[in-house]
Amino acid sequence: MIDDAKCPCGHPNQSVLHMINDCSLANRLRSDFIAAKRRAISDNERLKITATFYEQLAMIVDMHRSNLHRQMIYDTMTHMIDSTWQCKQMKI
Ligand SMILES: [Zn+2]
Repeated sequence: MIDDAKCPCGHPNQSVLHMINDCSLANRLRSDFIAAKRRAISDNERLKITATFYEQLAMIVDMHRSNLHRQMIYDTMTHMIDSTWQCKQMKI
């Protein structure tokens, strides 16, 4: 299976961090996410907003990439969300 790591936006490496931080395909989604996160009043709400942001990023990747690559990004994001949950649980 051919799967180069080039992002459809033109960036040489479609990593999870690229998608989250600077992919132009996710610009609109990212600005909505930042605005929603600023408005959030609780950690729980922020966590839900973050999970939704990752889900939507995974959908963008899904539209552009092979199943193999999508699965890798999706797994990473799921792991990041799990880690966030674990941090939160420890604080309680
Ligand atoms: Zn990109």
